[in-house]
Amino acid sequence: MVAEVIVDISAGEVDRVFDYLIPEDTNVSVGDRVKVSFGKMATEGFVVGIKETSSYDSSKLKPIESKLDDFTAIIPEMIDLMRFMQDKYDLRKADILRLFIPAQLRGGRVKEKVKTAVKLSKDKSVDEMLSSVRSTAVAQKAIIARLSAVEWEWASAISEEFGSSALNSLKEKGFVESFEITVGRKPYVSLEGERQSLSLTLDQKNAVETIEKTAGEYLLFGVTGSGKTEVYLKCIESVLEKGKTAIMLVPEISLTPQTMNRFRGRFGDTVALLHSGLSAGERFDEWLRLLRGEAKIAVGARSAIFAPLKNVGMIIIDEEHDGSYFSETNPRYNTRVIAEFRAKYNGASLVLGSATPSIESYYDATRGKSTLINMPNRVNNRLMPDIKVVDMCEEIKKGNRSIFSRAFTEGLASALNKGEQAMVFLNRRGYSSFMMCRKCGFVIKCANCDVSLTLHREDNRLKCHYCGAQYTVPATCPKCNSESIRYGRDGTEKIVADLSKLYPKARFLRMDNDTTSGKSSHLSILTSFRNGEADVLVGTQMIAKGHDFPKVTFVGILDADMSLYYGDYMSIERTFQLVTQVAGRAGRDELAGNVVLQSYSPNHYVFYFASKYDYEGFYRKEINVREITKFPPFTKIVRILFASESEDAVFSATKRALDAVKEIEKDYTGEFVSLKAMKSPVKRIENKYRYQIMMKLKREKEDEIIRKIYDAVNALKLRDVGIFVEQDPQNLS
Ligand code: ADP
Ligand code: ZN
Ligand code: ZN
Repeated sequence: MVAEVIVDISAGEVDRVFDYLIPEDTNVSVGDRVKVSFGKMATEGFVVGIKETSSYDSSKLKPIESKLDDFTAIIPEMIDLMRFMQDKYDLRKADILRLFIPAQLRGGRVKEKVKTAVKLSKDKSVDEMLSSVRSTAVAQKAIIARLSAVEWEWASAISEEFGSSALNSLKEKGFVESFEITVGRKPYVSLEGERQSLSLTLDQKNAVETIEKTAGEYLLFGVTGSGKTEVYLKCIESVLEKGKTAIMLVPEISLTPQTMNRFRGRFGDTVALLHSGLSAGERFDEWLRLLRGEAKIAVGARSAIFAPLKNVGMIIIDEEHDGSYFSETNPRYNTRVIAEFRAKYNGASLVLGSATPSIESYYDATRGKSTLINMPNRVNNRLMPDIKVVDMCEEIKKGNRSIFSRAFTEGLASALNKGEQAMVFLNRRGYSSFMMCRKCGFVIKCANCDVSLTLHREDNRLKCHYCGAQYTVPATCPKCNSESIRYGRDGTEKIVADLSKLYPKARFLRMDNDTTSGKSSHLSILTSFRNGEADVLVGTQMIAKGHDFPKVTFVGILDADMSLYYGDYMSIERTFQLVTQVAGRAGRDELAGNVVLQSYSPNHYVFYFASKYDYEGFYRKEINVREITKFPPFTKIVRILFASESEDAVFSATKRALDAVKEIEKDYTGEFVSLKAMKSPVKRIENKYRYQIMMKLKREKEDEIIRKIYDAVNALKLRDVGIFVEQDPQNLS
């Protein structure tokens, strides 16, 4: 027999299937990882097919050297998925297959954890053993007595209690045998698991019944606090009852202890948690439990969509609007597209949940691609918090030059006086975002990347967030020598410092990229805030999502407009989502909530609709704008990005690719809404010049056209220029 093998090497030249002989004594099946010799070296590979004979001269075929695992790592569905992803995203097979297994499995860097256990030999009776050891060997006698009462005991426990030399003597005599037991590493053992059993609200009941009726795609549009999680739990319960499995995706940042607790509490060890905070061993064990069918629910961030589950009955994407569902580095893919593939393959339901559906998903629902389910009320009819939009220009006119409006300071003080909690949200990281000269307007930028640098107060350095370069902080403006060079805006650290002066008794916690670099620091900050160890949580985007803090009654949004000016077509949608999500943190339990939203453009329609919780109104306005300006969902945006250290090379590559795309355009007149080549917004990153071709395609034959673009770009065979084709890129820097 012959195996079709994809070698685990990511290179264009070897991105195909190679035939290997299966030795008589080796039992190989499709999906197994194997060791093969390739060229002059040994490498790992994936078996993707088995056939009787090869079209190559079989006397020249090399044999498979060995099987690598005692399980089949790639389930059949994933081999189909590999083909689908290769076609859709033009990825290399090895890169795709790597997504399907724990990273450390490659190269055998992770194994199942085993512990040594010991038991008495059955060759002799206990009495015989006892009488044949010296009477002074008290420890040996004690071990025999101890082991005679149990089936087995951990070797470490015996050694600790009676000493390892006594144990070794017994092993030498053949009285005690040691053997190994596999022990699973269970992540977050400290999670207690809250076993709540709730009777469903009417909205929840309706949602569950609708979803359970027929398999299909659903958009669960439920306001913050409407109890979407309970709907997910109930739906998963009935999926399990049918003997099927489920995948539940959440944005990394909202995979909070509470979320995990609720799943553990409801489903116990049937849940596998896939979190970036897991150790390699824990991740591997959770993955293996899924593969072996010991765990039937995968809960995790984006990559959990590749969970090795068979017979999937439901896939849930919570906070479906979240940008983290797009993988923006190689391998690039959209999680939702993968989820649709897996749902279709398994005949499973796909549920997209959000309080602020993406414009695209809502549009799909209005056109019947998915079924819309509304949950317009909060659980127990709790009120949505009142949102007050404050005009910061007015504040300045009235003589308030601080970054806190009067409404903000009053709201915060009132919550603190009542012993309630508050959250303060701002849209960036570090002490401030950039340094600008107030006299000549000069902004300090990175020499490699042409983006403004960020001042980090902790070590008093200017840093580039793209390439990591660091610079000393200048005392005067490098251009005009003026001393009025300042930090552009304030970050979380400065806000905490200023607030501490205003409220000396209050206890503060900060949460942003700087305070959450440690493995579990992000969870520990959230836990201590939830436990009431602080009164105010000050943070960036990270505090916006999904968290449920019952004691929070006041939320302040210091600079709601920041995200309006990112300059991409989704800025307004993102701002609406952010404001709604942040506001949704307030008043989730019995206490009513208040939100103060500060803005320099308070009359923008996004704040009008957000403060009234009018998603539909916002949607109608926004979808109109999209239609007129020809942006998604009415078009598909494709960017071809070119990067190289040589500007000449990048320029000529862009030109050649543009010519090739124009050739394709000739066959599809009318399908191209626009097509343009230009320098990228960030002109250089890590010393590489960046150019791009941007195009908008009508949504009809776009898949066909994109496939042709991939082929055309590959045919250019450019060596010293990196080329990346992105579909609907989320980040256009
Ligand atoms: P969402 O994800 O829609 O914002 P959650 O699922 O976090 O909302 O639910 C909000 C709160 O309401 C949680 O504290 C949850 O325990 C509670 N809750 C959900 N469903 C019910 C119910 N049927 N009865 C009582 N409390 C509920
Ligand atoms: Zn200056
Ligand atoms: Zn840089």
